[in-house]
Amino acid sequence: MAIERTLSIIKPDAVAKNVIGKIYSRFETNGLKVIAAKMAWLSAQEAGEFYAVHKARPFYADLVKFMTSGPVMIQVLEGEDAIAKNRDLMGATDPKKAAPGTIRADFAESIDANAVHGSDAPETAQVEIAFFFPAMNVYSGR
Ligand code: UDP
Repeated sequence: MAIERTLSIIKPDAVAKNVIGKIYSRFETNGLKVIAAKMAWLSAQEAGEFYAVHKARPFYADLVKFMTSGPVMIQVLEGEDAIAKNRDLMGATDPKKAAPGTIRADFAESIDANAVHGSDAPETAQVEIAFFFPAMNVYSGR
């Protein structure tokens, strides 16, 4: 398995719940290293651009509104199979369907306020990391 990087966002609902540390702990105990991080309060333009792939979906406007409703914690995770591993730790998009013990099962309320974002493929990971972090601010964990 290859060492990969993925973009993770702790969304406004989870930041408001004060569980950044608990979520970081799950990354760390599962072999994912935080190699870049920042807190940000996204503008509508930034959130809209980040989620541009969902522009035509009925939930797009609400998603942008939610993602700009408070600060988020944004990080690059590095580790073996990081993209799929982070998705496994996150659980299904709808927390009601998320497996027990996943971040969404434990910390999320609903399909729109679902605690975390994680890149879903190598191509999107690369684009999403570059969207938030200049290369010089990403530190290899190896
Ligand atoms: N979303 C939503 N309603 C839906 C589907 C998705 O509000 O019916 C939001 C939700 O916050 C989700 C994000 O849009 O995390 C992106 O959707 P995607 O299908 O890519 O899910 P993810 O990759 O985050 O699990």
